[in-house]
Amino acid sequence: MALMNKGFLDLKKNYLFIEIGKRVKEYTQAHPDNKIIRMGIGDVTQPLAKTVVDAMKKAADEMGVKETFRGYEDSGMGYDFLREAVAKYYASYGVEISPDEVLISDGAKSDCGNIGDVFDPSNDVLVTDPAYPVYVDSNIMGGRKVYYADSTEENGFAAMPDDNIKPGMIYLCSPNNPTGSVYTKEQLKAWVDYALKNKAIIIFDAAYEAFISDPELPRSILGIEGARKCAIEICSLSKTAGFTGTRCGYTVIPKELMIETPDGGEMSFMQLWCRRQGSKFNGVSYPVQRAAEAVFTPEGIKQTRETIAYYMRNAKVIADTFDSLGIKYTGGKNSPYIWFKCPDGEDSWTFFDRLLNNAEVVGTPGAGFGKNGDGWFRLTAFGTYENTVEAMERVKKLLSK
Ligand code: PLP
Repeated sequence: MALMNKGFLDLKKNYLFIEIGKRVKEYTQAHPDNKIIRMGIGDVTQPLAKTVVDAMKKAADEMGVKETFRGYEDSGMGYDFLREAVAKYYASYGVEISPDEVLISDGAKSDCGNIGDVFDPSNDVLVTDPAYPVYVDSNIMGGRKVYYADSTEENGFAAMPDDNIKPGMIYLCSPNNPTGSVYTKEQLKAWVDYALKNKAIIIFDAAYEAFISDPELPRSILGIEGARKCAIEICSLSKTAGFTGTRCGYTVIPKELMIETPDGGEMSFMQLWCRRQGSKFNGVSYPVQRAAEAVFTPEGIKQTRETIAYYMRNAKVIADTFDSLGIKYTGGKNSPYIWFKCPDGEDSWTFFDRLLNNAEVVGTPGAGFGKNGDGWFRLTAFGTYENTVEAMERVKKLLSK
């Protein structure tokens, strides 16, 4: 009989959103006429920018005409027009990359999970805790041992390198989901130095870079000295431009990045990743790549930044509420997530129930993102402004009692 991948037995039960759904359903069944406000989801709510939709429609029309129809994309790595647009976008905030270092994908989740194919199972993996679950799950499925760097209240939820661990792979996410914290240049430099010392590779998830407004905070690890020799950057248009249902992302692999071969030599990481993608991936559809290209035009940047500003206005409403309540939180300033300490020393599930039952607001218990998340709670700014204001009025009433 076929034998299963035993790594699956080591996966934690994926119960977080199922359990939230179950509790919310029970509550709604008992109170069918009440209005519940959902602030737990990480999905966006605002529509695609007009310029993006126009580009997608135009490309769809081209697909219906013999002369402009397109089948498989030759390389599967992305059309040149989009790879060039991404490289120009990086240059706009001072990070030089070449278009042929940009590889177009169907989103950051796939690339964060698939990149492990290039690494031997013997590599130890270092992941910050709490973290976006893909980093841990994909490596457990890949048979690798996962170690954790603690993100805690004491270090402002910005975990730093641990010299007792010698990882081959390191996952960093900044601005962070779920904690909303953002690494400074100095902190990223410390991670780069640590990776270079250990000959490790950093997989840097920049899915929320577009939410950074503070010019002092790095939007890419690739601008940090030494990073081109030890880091890959994975990014997505999901939150930047509302592509969660459209699907497009990109991964940047610097030409200098090498990985060790079994005989102690080295090989280009890019070459191996292209080999992997060539075997298992056939590219992103032409209309979606044209839509993605439109995101990076001046009009696209303007329209998508207006939507981000809308979300960040929500984030300010949430942050102001916790400021006024004197409750400690991270995020909300250069990130759409607000991560706060559950009041009265409650654990995150007890607070979840209190918030649901007394304020009819749904959030995400921090415990679902790792052991350091317990006692903490995540709210997102991706709802509507009206609901965010109403939810925060309810939270104020509940917590100022
Ligand atoms: N990385 C992080 C940190 C995320 O929070 C998310 C989605 O919530 C993703 C990646 C997934 O992005 P995509 O929709 O591009 O797969």
